[in-house]
Order: sequence, then structure tokens, then C-alpha cells
Amino acid sequence: MKTASGTTLIANGQLVDGTGAAAVADAALVIEQGRIVYAGPASGAPEVPRGARNIDARGGTIMPGLVEAHYHPTYFNVAALEDLDIKYPVEYVTLLAAHNAQLALECGYTAARSGGSLFNVDVWLKKAIDEDLVLGPRLAASGREICGVGGLMDWNPDYRKIGMEGLVLLVNGPDEARAAVRKLVKDGVEWVKTYPTGDAAAPDTNDHHTLCMTFEEMHAVVQTAHNHKLKVTGHCRATEGIRNALRAGYDTLEHGTFMDTEALDLLLERNTPVIPALQFEHASILHGPEFGMLQAVIDGHKETLEGGAESARRILRAGGRLGMGGDYGFAWNPHGTYAKELTFFVEHVGFTPLETITCATRTGAEILGRGHELGTLEAGKLADVLVVDGDVLGNIGLLEDRSRFIAVLQGGVMKAGQVRP
Ligand SMILES: [Zn+2]
Repeated sequence: MKTASGTTLIANGQLVDGTGAAAVADAALVIEQGRIVYAGPASGAPEVPRGARNIDARGGTIMPGLVEAHYHPTYFNVAALEDLDIKYPVEYVTLLAAHNAQLALECGYTAARSGGSLFNVDVWLKKAIDEDLVLGPRLAASGREICGVGGLMDWNPDYRKIGMEGLVLLVNGPDEARAAVRKLVKDGVEWVKTYPTGDAAAPDTNDHHTLCMTFEEMHAVVQTAHNHKLKVTGHCRATEGIRNALRAGYDTLEHGTFMDTEALDLLLERNTPVIPALQFEHASILHGPEFGMLQAVIDGHKETLEGGAESARRILRAGGRLGMGGDYGFAWNPHGTYAKELTFFVEHVGFTPLETITCATRTGAEILGRGHELGTLEAGKLADVLVVDGDVLGNIGLLEDRSRFIAVLQGGVMKAGQVRP
């Protein structure tokens, strides 16, 4: 991805730098050749050359670009799960994914970690974004998702004679788990997404207390993935699935819903980040009925929302790491509403706006494995910046409103916002 040339000065706003430090009033950010050279009080800013680009924050907020840590660009706002693998061919899914990537960038998300992909679209989407062919967040790519046969993602009954080739690699036993990861290595993914547990979405045979992979399968996935320098994550709701994932050496946990003390201790010992993705549950409860969601499914989502919120609070209090990502791409939780996750954490989970923003910036970049170059506004880092007209610490909901975005920058290059290139 190209970086900007020359110097840019962003001033006349508070600085929320993403490190968790208190906001700096009347701040300035100076960018040279796409990297930050100064972030702090305007009074201490170095002089910028004549002809430098100026961006006026209008008394609002200068902050790092947001990071979507559980992003599915290929999930195309489906109303029924099985639409994911049968509704469209890969050609159209690819176009939809490119559209969703641009939308995420316009929503202030300058980086994202994929939580699983249809076909192998994310790997190629990442390349197109990196080569400036399409606009989108800097992407950490996942591929097809791994699940045990008969598990949550294996939803087509055999009589339909439809496989799940576009979405998941179904495995029976550690040997097949290893083979699936090797296929993903060849596909070029960075993250391996797995399904250790079920979900409220499948209350009959794969609910949120059900295991969908054995420990041996999960361990085989991690060993093979780590050998090839890939990272592993998993959809972990049931307590035993969380413990299995941590013992197997998972690099992150998605959801981490029912966390007991033993699991929490293991999590903290390994400093494993968790991406709760609670807005998905919240939206399912609010809007599920409009889409014909069964009451048993909605009841399950209520249980996982409560469990997930409690676990998130315990992890934060204990000093653990949390990323913000919302599993967007379902009809009731569509693309473009990404920052609802942040509002939910402030209004319903009890995080402060500053804590929530730190999770959505610094920790998000750490999850991508790029904490050294992204996620905070500090000298030396890439200038991925969001400038918002308003005080996001006073009203986190402003981040849901793209019309308030003065500028969205990646590497100092203006990509979206009111100020046009
Ligand atoms: Zn997901």
C-alpha cells in the first residue's frame, strides 16, 4: 500500500492516541512520508514546512484508525446461514467482498483481521488492497474455516447432496485436521479459523454448550499451523471448548463466552486476546424475529450475550486483552454498522469509551501481529488516522456516523471522509 509523500499537519482537536492514555486537549499530529513524526500538545509540535497539507479537526478528535478484529468481508448480509454456501458463485462473492472492504474503510476501519472467508477470497482481497487496486482495511487474511463433521458449520443434510467446499473444511480426526491446515497453507492464509464449539444459532444439535472439534483435532491444527507460521483462532463459546483452545495453543479466541476461573487463569497466563463480538448477539435478539429467527435461537443468544458480557468484564478487570469485532455480514447485523460494537461495550457492558477505543485500536493491531507499526498514534508508526468532528469520549456513538468523519487516512493518504484528496 502506497504511503503519502510530503508533510501533513492535523490540528485543532483532542488527541486520543490509542495507548489508553488520557486525551490530550489542543493537540497536533505531524505526518512525514506517511509516518507519524509527532503526536502531542500543539504547543510542542515541530514546525512544518510551507506547503504542508493541513487538516482542521474542528475541535473534534484525532485518533488511530479503528481495527475490526473479527471481520467477514465475504459474508454478504445473509438472512439464512445456508445462503452463505449456496446462494452466489465465487465471482459475485468476490465483488461483494470488495464492496464491503471499501465500506469498512469509509466507516473508519483502517485495518481488519478476517474471521473466516468464503472460498479463498480474503487472500486475494488482501493483495488487491495492498496493491491499491481496491480500497479497504489492511487485512489479515483467513481462509475457509475448519469444523468437525456434523458440527456447527456442517449444516447441509446429506440428502441435499451439497458439500460445504466454499466455506468450510470438514474434518474427522487429527489427520484430516492436519490435511485441512496444509491446504490452507497452500492457499496463502495467515489465520486458521476453527469451530471448537457450537452456537445459539443451532439449538438442536450444536448449541453453545456443544463441542464441534476434539482436543486432538484442535491440537493437530495448532501444531501444523504454527509449524508453517500461521496463527489459529476459534469460535469458542462452551467452557470446555475455551479450555481446549487455550491448552492447544490458540493465538486468539473468538467470543470466549462461558469463561470459568480456570479458563480465565489460563487465558491471562498466555495473554491470549479475546474478541467477544457481542453486538452480533444483541442484534440477533433485537432484529431476529423480523428474519424469522426461532425463539429457541433468540433465547440462546440472550444466554450467550449475558455470558459473553460477563466474561469481557472479568477479562478487562484482570488485565487481559480484548479486541473489538462484531461478526458483521448477517441481515440483522449488516456491513457498515461496525462501530455499533463499540457503543454496545460502553452502553451495555460498562467499559469506558477510552477502554473501548484502546481495545479497538492498539489491541486490534496487536491481534493482527502489527502492533509495532499500527494501532496507536506514536512517532514512527504508519499514519492510519481517523479525524472525527466531535468528542468521541463524550459520545462514542459518533463513531457510528461516517458523516462526522473529517478524514480517514492510511499511511498518511486520504482515503475517505469529508476532506477529499
Ligand atoms: Zn464470525
